[in-house]
Formats: sequence, structure tokens, C-alpha cells
Amino acid sequence: MSEQAELNRSDSRQKIQTVNPANAEPGKTYEETSLDEAKAAAAAARKAFLDWRRSSFAERSAIIHKAAEILRARKDEFARLMTDEMGKTFDEGRAEVEKCAFHCDWFADQAQDYLAHDPVDIGAGETFVTFNPLGVVLAVMPWNFPFWQVFRFAAPALMAGNGALLKHASNVPGCALAIEEVLHEAGVPRDLFRTLILPSREVEALIKDANVGAVTLTGSVEAGRSVATAAGSVLKKCVLELGGSDAYVILDDADIEAAAKIAATARMVNGGQSCIAGKRFIVVRSIAEPFERALVEAMRRYEMGDPTEEGTKLGPMVSVKARDEVHAQVTGSVDKGARLLLGGQVPDRAGAWYPPTVLSDVRPGQPAHDKEVFGPVAAIISAADEADAVRIANDSEFGLGSGVLTSDVDRGRRIASQELEAGMSFVNENVRSDPRTPFGGVKHSGYGRECSAFGIREFVNIKTVHVKPLG
Ligand code: NAP
Repeated sequence: MSEQAELNRSDSRQKIQTVNPANAEPGKTYEETSLDEAKAAAAAARKAFLDWRRSSFAERSAIIHKAAEILRARKDEFARLMTDEMGKTFDEGRAEVEKCAFHCDWFADQAQDYLAHDPVDIGAGETFVTFNPLGVVLAVMPWNFPFWQVFRFAAPALMAGNGALLKHASNVPGCALAIEEVLHEAGVPRDLFRTLILPSREVEALIKDANVGAVTLTGSVEAGRSVATAAGSVLKKCVLELGGSDAYVILDDADIEAAAKIAATARMVNGGQSCIAGKRFIVVRSIAEPFERALVEAMRRYEMGDPTEEGTKLGPMVSVKARDEVHAQVTGSVDKGARLLLGGQVPDRAGAWYPPTVLSDVRPGQPAHDKEVFGPVAAIISAADEADAVRIANDSEFGLGSGVLTSDVDRGRRIASQELEAGMSFVNENVRSDPRTPFGGVKHSGYGRECSAFGIREFVNIKTVHVKPLG
């Protein structure tokens, strides 16, 4: 906290306590930030931004490279923190920290080019487009990739010359504070980037604070709607990365074993708790039976195990509440005619465990068809042919990622590039985020983009400058 924020501390603040999803044991306790403190932090961040915006790309680049270095050096510690707070397997946590470091290095190296003056020839005088920072960006972030989601916005936002406030999900306060520590240790000015342990009920008021320039949210549709409404009411720029129900179309010419393996990988990323996890597998009827068998075998390989041990492929879900919601979606789908091919039983043990599960005969009216299922549950939907499969894939409120599995790459390229309504469509691979390519969705999956030149340009003033001699 800045000096002013320190003065505003009250003794009656609320506390939050983490819970280890693997065994339901309570973890550390953290004090919540009050709204007054958050507003003081916003004022301090705005002040720090006015200096930071004048720093050179070289200065910012050295700091963000240093953040990458610290992340790599403390990779195991941060992976373990994620395991303890939200149940991510240690292996996936290590990979996530590596990815954050790569992302920092990428934007440290590329920001200057991405934001270089863009000359335009309009026939007279000198004209160019310049990209100036917007100010303090408030980031409301989810727990599922507690490090990646934050670095995904923070590295480009800081490289562009912005300040930032992080309001992370309430169940990962240790990760939120560790990220702040990394950035400060790397040299990001203390007030320029702050973690606020702020309850979500205070987000609207903070968005409306004059020192907050823009807002980005990664999370559910409901949270997105609330944040967009608050930002809209004060006409502030807003980027939304929301939910998804990614469809993979499996065509009749696909190698079934290979397709099932990709499908299972796509579904089981982060224990199925990824916005871009494959959630609906739309298979052409002529190969539906062998694909079902192959997907069941591929999913069965994701055995539940201790998330702290190397090699574990499936840890617990984030919480018992989230697990119970997913189980209700499974039973609700079975009640309405889905066939349970694998899993679907809540294990008799403490913690948020749920086994790999496969449903077939998934149809409209079932939760597995109509809703985002945020856990290790694959839904198989059969289609008459390619056109029907594409129709079903697009018949969703979401449009984040999507895939085509086919032995004919020309066919796959055409469907991916022209037919599927999604922000990202991959052929014969599971959808992944990457700092080098734009990431985001359409429809209720949100708007705006992260990563690449498109991402870093979300939180800048894209400004036309025209210069000509007087007279
Ligand atoms: P969530 O409940 O929406 O929470 C996300 C963040 O929003 C948290 O910091 C949460 O704070 C805050 N929040 C919740 N309700 C809010 C409100 N009314 N106003 C302001 N802030 C609010 O989502 P989640 O359960 O953590 O994450 C799962 C969802 O995120 C899924 O739908 C998933 O697909 C989506 N997601 C999308 C992407 C993407 O890039 N498109 C990536 C990852 C996840 P509290 O924790 O304090 O409530």
C-alpha cells in the first residue's frame, strides 16, 4: 500500500482463508483490502504512471526481462503455491510459470516494434499513428491459471507504459501477492503495480474511480456483464475474456485414435478447468461408435493422483462447490437422455475430486450441451455430416476456441478459417494461447484481444498525428 493507503487501514477488516482442494484443509489467512485503500492505491498508481509513461522501452524491457528471470528461478515455489491454493498439478504449474516467463521476454523484446509510430501517406505533410498508454488498468482475474492470466495482461500493459491494479480471484491471494512481489523485485515501481485483495462487490466502485483508466476482466459471463456495465456507465475501455464451450468437429476422414488423443488433451488441460478446453466433441455419425470407444480409452488415462507429485495427470478440481456443480451438470444431462460412458461418480474422499467423465448422446436441453462444463467431462454430440457438425458447433452462446480433426488439411483449413464462429480455430491440435498470436473470443466469450500486437494495442490511445509547416 502507498503511504496514504496505510493510513486508511481499519482494524475491522474482513479476512479470507484459502482451502487446499486436494484435502479440504484450511490454508493461510489474508486481510482484505478496503475500498478506501483500493482508491488510494489507484491514486498512487496514477501518479506513478505519469513517470513510467516517460520511461524508455529499453528501461521497461530490462525490468520485464528481469521478471522473467525471477519467475524461472522461483518456478517450483510458484507451482507449489498454485497446487495448494487451487489444485493445479505441480507439472502444469511449472509449465505455467515457464509460459509466463516466455511471455514477459516476448513483450520485453517486441513492445517497441508493436508500438512504433506507424507512418501514413495522405499526400501532404507528415502523418503517423502513435500508441500512447491509457493510464491505470484495473485487471479482474480468475483462479484457473493464476499466474498466466495475470502476466498475459500485465507484461504488455506495463511495456506499453500503463500502470495496473490486480484484483485476483479470492481463492488465490497467495498467488496474487507473489506476482506483485515478482514485479516489484524486478524493478516495477511499487505504486505502479499493486495487488488488491478486494472483494468483487467493490469492483464496480473502483472502476468508477477517476484514477482508473480502463478495465480488463477474465472470468465468467456473469462477472463480465457486471464489469462491462460498470465500465460502460463511465465510458471506460473494457476488454472481456469470458467463458467458452469449445467445439471440436471430428470428420469422417479422421484417424480415430489420433483424433481421440487430441480431444482428450484438449478436454483435460488444467483438469478440464480452462476457458479454451475442448468441451463439445461433435463427431460425424458414421464414425461415432469407434470415436466414443477411443475417447473413453484416452480419457481413462487421466488418472486422479496427488497434484504435488510429478507425473500426476489429474488433480482435484478447484473446490467442492465447483465439483458439485459439474456433477449436477452430468447427472442433469443423464436424466435428460445422455449416456454415461466413463466416470460420473463423486469419489468418497475429502477434497474436490472428480474423475474423467465421458457423456454421449448429448443433445440440446442437456446442461452438457447448453452450458459451459468447467471440469473433466467430455460431451460427445453426433452430427449427420460436415455441414451439420459445423451448424452444431456454431449453435452456442460462446465463441472462444474451436477445432477440426481431419486427415484432409485443406478441408480443415477451410472449415477453421471460414466456417467456425470462434476467436481461435485449430486444425488437428488443441487450442492454445501464445504471446505471438491474438487470443480472445466472439459472442458471449467476450471482446477485445490479448497477446500479439492486437493485445498490446488494446490499452493504448491509437492516436493520429499530423504535422505540417506553418503557412
Ligand atoms: P468468476 O467467478 O467470474 O471470477 C473471475 C474474477 O471476477 C474473480 O476475480 C472474481 O472475484 C471476479 N468477479 C466475480 N463476480 C464479479 C462481479 N460481479 N463483479 C466484479 N468482479 C467479479 O470466474 P471464475 O469462476 O473464477 O473462472 C471461471 C470462468 O472464467 C469460466 O467461465 C472460464 O471459461 C472463464 N475464463 C475465461 C478465460 C478467457 O481467457 N476467455 C480464461 C480463464 C477463465 P471473486 O473471486 O472475489 O469472486
